[in-house]
Amino acid sequence: MAIDYQTTLDEIVIETLIYKEKGKVADYIPELAKVAPDQFGIFLQLLDGESYYTGDAFTRFSIQSISKVFALTMAFSFLGEKLWERVGVEPSGTAFNSLLQLEYEKGIPRNPFINAGALVVADILVSHLNDPKKELLHFIRHLSGGEKVSYNKAVALSEKRNGYRNMAVANLLKSFGNIQNPVEKVLDLYFNMCSIEMSCEELAKTFLLFVNHGKIPGSEDEILTKSQTKRLNALMQTCGFYDESGEYTFAVGLPGKSGVGGGIIALYPEKFTISVWSPRLNEKGNSVRGIKALELFTTKTGMSVF
Ligand code: GLU
Repeated sequence: MAIDYQTTLDEIVIETLIYKEKGKVADYIPELAKVAPDQFGIFLQLLDGESYYTGDAFTRFSIQSISKVFALTMAFSFLGEKLWERVGVEPSGTAFNSLLQLEYEKGIPRNPFINAGALVVADILVSHLNDPKKELLHFIRHLSGGEKVSYNKAVALSEKRNGYRNMAVANLLKSFGNIQNPVEKVLDLYFNMCSIEMSCEELAKTFLLFVNHGKIPGSEDEILTKSQTKRLNALMQTCGFYDESGEYTFAVGLPGKSGVGGGIIALYPEKFTISVWSPRLNEKGNSVRGIKALELFTTKTGMSVF
């Protein structure tokens, strides 16, 4: 029997109401603390073109760490397998902004989704692009099929003003020779990419290449090879949810990436992408209601990669 996706999403809204007030909005910068905490949206995009949504699916929010996937995609397309000489592919088991592990592992970040790894990726983009901020945005817009995705200047500035730990990580990386450009340039790109705003709809559409073996659906435009796409999906599965990637995988069973803006994108290769947004976070930095929504989605539909 065909799955009734709309009914499933509508049920999820009701069944996750008990989590509506659980968790705390990110408050490490004032801009993120200002967001109305009870917003909730879901957008499901099937690869065959059909889509379903509910709630605040068209409201843009700060995608934060989800932007690390776009930067990584670009860097991987530039460097290929050589990328993994500068950043690992193992879950970190430590906080996403930890300095400790980087010190004893001599400047090679565990994976590209902890901040140290994302800073190395940002460095690679600075090395390869004339205008990294402009070209990264152009790349994301190209993937999204629209022109509206943008940086939020106030968020970027606030990230910069409060980014002492990221500055420390960048300087430590530089001391080990794993940042090749001036740290200020690398941090500027990093803080800006964290500030990008997208809606659930835009995220679900933009991530379609990951369910389509690296190609934008409907075009022959190959962003990543089939094998590269497999690798990035594997990284999203194992490292995409900070220090909660194991529990997330256990509950949901789909590759994905979260951000402290409360957004999550998850996907099933050859089938669909699904994005959820709810700003209240658990202690690990993941959206409380968002994870519950995805858990219910894969349980109700049986659509999990496991
Ligand atoms: N912008 C924040 C940072 O780099 C958080 C990014 C995130 O984890 O979503 O510390």
